[in-house]
Amino acid sequence: MAACLALVGCPPTEQTHRATFFAFGTLVELTVRSANPEHARQAEAYVAAELDRLHDALTPYTDDSPLSITNRRLVAGESHAPEPVLLALVELSLPHYRSSGGLFNPALGGLVRLWGFHEEGGGALPSAEHLQPYIEKPPSMEQLVLNEAVISSTNPALQLDFGGIAKGYALKVLVDNLAHMGFKHLILNAGGDLRALGRHGTRPWCVGIRHPRKPGETLASLQIRNDESVFTSGDYERYFMYEGRRYHHILDPRSAYPAVDAISVTVVHSDAILADAAATALFIAGPREWRHVAAAMGVTEVLLMDAEGQLHTTEAMHLRMHRGVCEAEFNAPAAEGNG
Ligand code: AMP
Ligand code: MG
Repeated sequence: MAACLALVGCPPTEQTHRATFFAFGTLVELTVRSANPEHARQAEAYVAAELDRLHDALTPYTDDSPLSITNRRLVAGESHAPEPVLLALVELSLPHYRSSGGLFNPALGGLVRLWGFHEEGGGALPSAEHLQPYIEKPPSMEQLVLNEAVISSTNPALQLDFGGIAKGYALKVLVDNLAHMGFKHLILNAGGDLRALGRHGTRPWCVGIRHPRKPGETLASLQIRNDESVFTSGDYERYFMYEGRRYHHILDPRSAYPAVDAISVTVVHSDAILADAAATALFIAGPREWRHVAAAMGVTEVLLMDAEGQLHTTEAMHLRMHRGVCEAEFNAPAAEGNG
């Protein structure tokens, strides 16, 4: 390649641009490679606006959010046309609800709220009386009646909560649009859950999977191939301690209690939404059932740490983890949850 002489006029060189935001209860970091700082600023402005829009639509923690309004109508047994983004999420969730055998279940919004993990001070053990409706007639996505753009529910205990898939949806939509805007090399990282496109200059992006019990340590580092998402569900993100036990935010629909068999699960897939839903479902499935559920959901790259601290991996993930260690630029920063 001919040397570039400054007097002749060099093509602008690609630089790394970073910006941080706060959404879904966590720090979101955008890293883009671009030779044009103005173009990078456009990406930042777009991401800031979209994160705000999605966060406002999907939060169940303000009374007048679109999701809260929809949930009130569902509980009242009324038919209702939700915001398009909510309808999209219902439709996108259904196949993952079914393929996970109901372990990934966005119909558990009332139960999530009852446990109160997102509250100041971190929640409390619900009474048996309050848990009763979720055990007697467990809310299911099949109880949601969809009639074109109108939904209703046959179970008054059914409320929607997209916490298990919202980041996957956001990363899918935002990164797709950034790609349309012309960005080829970027990472959008929402508290350790991320989607990466392209490369970091001449080398692949390198992502660290954090150790769920040893802050600052990684379980593995992965070299990203072209367009991949890396999602982790863990018991350390939102939890409270009661009588020496950890009660965390990933609920097993079969017991109405936090799932007990895993500490963290990481899934890598080209589809951010599937990676997010699968990480949540496989966390609940735990070491005995995860292989079966992973196969049913169509994910092949999984790393699970069980409650005893033992690691379980798929063959594809095992090969990847031992294929060449890289210097992780993203050691999955401490996630503060995804409310
Ligand atoms: P994640 O970190 O992606 O595993 O999502 C956890 C969040 O999903 C929780 O904070 C709840 O908002 C919600 N959630 C809890 N249990 C479930 C479940 N069984 N299925 C779907 N979403 C859930
Ligand atoms: Mg998830």
